[in-house]
Amino acid sequence: MSRHFFTEARAGLVHILRERGIIDEAVLQAFGVVPREHFVSGPFKQRAYEDIALPIDKHQTISQPFTVARMTELLEVKPNHTILEIGTGSGYQAAILAEMGASVYTIERHFELYTASRSILKELFPATAIQCRFGDGTIGWSEYAPYDGIVVTAGAPEIPDALLKQLKIGGHLIIPVGNEKSQIMHCIVREDESNYADYPLEDVSFVPLIGKQGWSGS
Ligand code: SAH
Repeated sequence: MSRHFFTEARAGLVHILRERGIIDEAVLQAFGVVPREHFVSGPFKQRAYEDIALPIDKHQTISQPFTVARMTELLEVKPNHTILEIGTGSGYQAAILAEMGASVYTIERHFELYTASRSILKELFPATAIQCRFGDGTIGWSEYAPYDGIVVTAGAPEIPDALLKQLKIGGHLIIPVGNEKSQIMHCIVREDESNYADYPLEDVSFVPLIGKQGWSGS
């Protein structure tokens, strides 16, 4: 697969995202730059710019580009924002956020995915601060809190309390909530110290969020 093939395919994906309703130009610009083929392996590379989820290691998935774009748009990312991501997976969502100028803190519970994504992110963004952590993201990452935005890329049974507490006033928490097969995307906005507005949006389907304030599992 040549470099030219991927460059053209990447531009094609941006076109698809625009047609599907993504309007934030900063999001679209990032999709036009980040090489998704680096985040999938072997035979999936040639399908990297189809608007579909693809398998990665440990029975997990790299989310569909439209979903990544939609969640990023809902976060309302601005350069220099600090964003916490729960569920690094392939690292692609973290790369989109970094490309938009955010400082990214991302947590993954599978050690293999944590090490693989960390090395790809280091290679692609040698000068950018992307902090990767191995562990349970349902308890957040209090050291760097509060965050301008928090994005959870796995389906939760309920909204983890710790994440609400680690959000800045005015910040957005984007999280799929439901059962282990299907969820509703929620955009939660912290209005002040103790009030949150909860906007339930479209139906989605994510792998389960497993942890202390998530599903139990191995
Ligand atoms: N954002 C990813 C999507 C990966 S799928 C990407 O762009 O590729 C969701 C990921 O969440 C999986 O890798 C899964 O292992 C991870 N995950 C599930 N529960 C978690 C938890 N409690 N803490 C951290 N990661 C979790």
